[in-house]
Amino acid sequence: MGLCKIPRESITYKKEAFMAKKIIVIGGSAAGPKAAARARRLDQDAEITIIQKDPDLSMASCGYPYYVGGFFDDRNMLLCTPTGVVRDPKFFLNAKGINAMTGTEVTGIDRKNKKLFCRTTAGGAVEELSYDKLIFATGSLPKIPPVPGKDLEGITTLQSMKDADFLRKIRDEKKIKKAVIIGGGLIGIETCEALQLAGIEITVIEMLPQLQTSLDWQLAKLVENHVKSKKANVITGNGLAEFLGQDGKLVGVKLTNGTELPCELAVVAIGVKPNTMLAKNAGLSTGETGGIIVNEYMQTSDPDIYAAGDCVEVTSRITGKKVHAPYGDIANLEGRVAGENAVCGNRAKFSGNIGTGICKVFDFAAGVTGLSETAALKAGMKDIITAVNASPDKPGFMKGKLLVTKMVADKKSGKVLGVQCIGPGDVSKQIATAAMAIMGGLTVKDLVNSDLPYAPPFSLAIDNFIATVHILENKMEGRMTGISAEEVKELVDKKQDICLLDVRGPDEFEEIRLGIGEVLIPLGALRNRLGELPQDKKKTIICFCKISLRGYEAACLLSAKGYQDVRVLEGGIMAWPYGREK
Ligand SMILES: Cc1cc2nc3c(=O)[nH]c(=O)nc-3n(C[C@H](O)[C@H](O)[C@H](O)COP(=O)(O)OP(=O)(O)OC[C@H]3O[C@@H](n4cnc5c(N)ncnc54)[C@H](O)[C@@H]3O)c2cc1C
Repeated sequence: MGLCKIPRESITYKKEAFMAKKIIVIGGSAAGPKAAARARRLDQDAEITIIQKDPDLSMASCGYPYYVGGFFDDRNMLLCTPTGVVRDPKFFLNAKGINAMTGTEVTGIDRKNKKLFCRTTAGGAVEELSYDKLIFATGSLPKIPPVPGKDLEGITTLQSMKDADFLRKIRDEKKIKKAVIIGGGLIGIETCEALQLAGIEITVIEMLPQLQTSLDWQLAKLVENHVKSKKANVITGNGLAEFLGQDGKLVGVKLTNGTELPCELAVVAIGVKPNTMLAKNAGLSTGETGGIIVNEYMQTSDPDIYAAGDCVEVTSRITGKKVHAPYGDIANLEGRVAGENAVCGNRAKFSGNIGTGICKVFDFAAGVTGLSETAALKAGMKDIITAVNASPDKPGFMKGKLLVTKMVADKKSGKVLGVQCIGPGDVSKQIATAAMAIMGGLTVKDLVNSDLPYAPPFSLAIDNFIATVHILENKMEGRMTGISAEEVKELVDKKQDICLLDVRGPDEFEEIRLGIGEVLIPLGALRNRLGELPQDKKKTIICFCKISLRGYEAACLLSAKGYQDVRVLEGGIMAWPYGREK
């Protein structure tokens, strides 16, 4: 029969499972084509059809900001295989034996008779197709703020190829001078850079108190500082109240505090919601996040219908709660599972996600995997411990670049719950390493002696990830008491009687300094200058340096000398998110 040629010894199948012949996939961007391709690889005889509303197939949506920003000029590169072949219907038919109908929308489903209805977006006649198994991959839709003026000319999202074409044209025409971006998440920040590169003055408007809400405030603030250093404006804690227009065209935006900002272009990037209207109309169950409910086989409430990608909700492997995870990699993984199960019966599983993502922020990156401290607390995990570490990704002689990392772990078990990392260094490697640790359920103890690849062009001997684990271990075992930048700022603002001890050298102090009342005693001189410290051994002493490694050594010395409340400013000056004197 040619079906399911890759057997899995450990699994037994019912004969009926091999009967699927007509597979129809609705949606042809990420999850859909992946599901179709997987189904084809496992079943050379099935009749596989992709029905795609958009005119293009297999669009690399994650690449839109880089096309808009001019990182490359050939639009077809967003649609190509790695060997440069555009994935159009001809490619799908010739290379994969998959019938792809583009510009065609599925308008209804008759589940009882296993039929669907579709018609071309150009308004063609309704066509009826029958299926044995159906795969939903209808993706997500951008959220649009329900404010006056939302239909004015000059307002767009960056969600489709059409949007990317529109914004790329704006880049090429060079007529627009000012733009606002509504929303400071992944797409908002990437679009900010793209339009900034197009020579447009940008303001990012975020309703919440911080950009990038998957990060804790301190790291998000460091990201915001970096965006501002690139001459983009950022307004946080202030939402959009109204789009202002003249003759049907956008001329500005009004914020909830009354501020008006003139602009000719607005890009709305306030998140996405699962595109489930068709599924709901067909009677499929949707869940609390709005996504189609699927089991671990990516099977919906109808056993003959699978679903994958942005249109579904999945289970967080960490909290066990349902989440909407609109990520391109997850869409592909889910599509792979749905495609296999549609032709082979339920045997492949998708066991949930952990919330891993990364975002380019000009020459920085911001990544997260698992839970931030805020997310862990929100999920009801109270007994957690965190560590912030700042260190370069490589030795200085190899032009190492800074990474600021925050790790969150369960205090009792030591299990790592989440890692965030930002900076100009190799954030992706840190997040990938951490993601594997979280997926494997590893603890701080398991990770202290991690055997990671080391050579100077790639890493430090103690990689940033391991150094973060070491800090966390020291804190868990009471060898180090950390203090966060936010706590120090609060103590300083409240004019608390504390001693802030900077242990760097005088040259470094001249170059960069916090200027919050600190005293400078270089680490090398500290043993001989203890007399300059407060005589009251109970007084709080907060030690730090550029990254707080020397700060930690100073703290060890002071504790040994009888000081009872010695703390280390975690991440040191490099992780300080507030303004500095220098
Ligand atoms: C600008 C941008 C940047 C991104 N960057 C990243 C990133 O860096 N990393 C990351 O992991 N993710 C990123 N994402 C998210 C990622 O692109 C999505 O998670 C992924 O595309 C989801 O794939 P999907 O197939 O589920 O849905 P979609 O890509 O949304 O595709 C769904 C398709 O279904 C079709 N469709 C819908 N309804 C019907 C119907 N009734 N009939 C026929 N066809 C229909 C639509 O035409 C659409 O093409 C980014 C997204 C955008 C927009």
